[in-house]
Amino acid sequence: MLNRIDLRAEASSPEAVGRELLPRAELDVEAALEKVRPICEDVRHRGTAALIDYARRFDGVSLTRTRVPAEALRRALDELDPAVRAALEESIRRARLVHRAQRREDHTVRVVPGGTVTERWVPVERVGLYVPGGQAVYPSSVVMNVVPAQEAGVGSLAVTSPPQRTPGVEWSDGLPHPTILAACALLGVDEVHAAGGAQAIAMFAYGTEECRPAKLVTGPGNVYVAAAKRLLKGVIGIDAEAGPTEIAILADASADPALVAADLISQAEHDELAAAVLVTPSEVLVEAVDAELAHQVAAAKHHERITAALTGRQSCAVLVADLDQGLAVVDAYAAEHLEIHTERAAEVAARVTNAGAVFVGPHAPVSLGDYCAGSNHVLPTGGCACHSSGLSVQSFLRGIHVVEYDRQALAEVAAEVVTLAEAEDLPAHGSAVKARFEWKVPPRQ
Ligand code: NAD
Repeated sequence: MLNRIDLRAEASSPEAVGRELLPRAELDVEAALEKVRPICEDVRHRGTAALIDYARRFDGVSLTRTRVPAEALRRALDELDPAVRAALEESIRRARLVHRAQRREDHTVRVVPGGTVTERWVPVERVGLYVPGGQAVYPSSVVMNVVPAQEAGVGSLAVTSPPQRTPGVEWSDGLPHPTILAACALLGVDEVHAAGGAQAIAMFAYGTEECRPAKLVTGPGNVYVAAAKRLLKGVIGIDAEAGPTEIAILADASADPALVAADLISQAEHDELAAAVLVTPSEVLVEAVDAELAHQVAAAKHHERITAALTGRQSCAVLVADLDQGLAVVDAYAAEHLEIHTERAAEVAARVTNAGAVFVGPHAPVSLGDYCAGSNHVLPTGGCACHSSGLSVQSFLRGIHVVEYDRQALAEVAAEVVTLAEAEDLPAHGSAVKARFEWKVPPRQ
């Protein structure tokens, strides 16, 4: 079922393997830009009225406002299935444990006597959190966005998610999905908007009558969300433009093919463009995984979407000469999610340098991380894991350097400042220091 790539006799560099032999499914964000530009301008000028029009056009619902009433949040929590409530509470509890440990302390470095630099960590004042809700609804993404923002100490946060028509839940027509509302209520979020796509990003960037502008927007979404983030970056801070999800599995002959196949399928289930990549030195394992895929995909609920993802050009089984070559390949690929199914998996995992998150051994599937590991599931895709991290407390903090020097400490380094200023042909920089010492460079003590 998976395309095969045999690198056992391949002499190409790992970078070339990552770039050329393992193509990624690409979202055409550039093409979507032209579509979202007028939408964002319209929201900028007409605010809520524009959001109401786009909700009718793209989501098929009639709204009178975007802000979800407090009563709807309470009601969604009251009516939430107790098993789903308990699972969400466990997911939140574990995510809090991990994200609380990411908080950063301010620290002061005494550079010289009388001269200090303090790094102060300050939360972003107001953030907008996007929770997707087009083809599927993701209450887990509420947890993964809200928990790090809260643990960072963000004072004001608003969630937005597309308005829905939820069959069988009469009162919720035109609101985000009831489970998303309930997850917000569980987390104590009281500002929730019914808006999706590019228009929701514009709402956070420019603000509307009902939504104060935010300084930063985070969260995954489709190509229109990604295009609006690219367009409005600068007006508002963004986390990343998330692309289609990816799983890579590095496995040896000790791996269980049924588990490998189940995990490849679990991520292929997200999206036709999702990537599922198996990297292994074992030809026997590739055969066994293929047999398992044929069997398990046929029984899967979303088998058409899964088949499209697994047979797409972005998914494949890569045969490597040994685990060293396998590690070079997965590092070059820099997957959003990387599973290690090998003997001494922890040792192999410790050698990985590029991945959004690494899942070690047979009992840590990616779906554990999607919901309840405690780790964050908003992770870099498209190879960005070689330079970026997933969402964390750090995403919502800014480090501010606070510089304090007394007269003596400045005097001691004044000559160097003046020399460097003159070397850069910026003599006024040097003059600003000399002005404090009767316009002369002070002699060294
Ligand atoms: P979405 O909420 O991102 O997009 C839905 C919105 O798109 C609609 O409300 C509508 O306003 C807009 N839209 C739809 N058609 C449009 C059109 N023709 N022109 C302009 N706007 C239009 O939901 P989605 O579509 O289901 O996409 C969610 C994405 O997020 C998926 O790719 C999914 O895999 C991904 N995701 C990623 C993570 C992660 O952590 N990386 C988690 C959950 C979801």
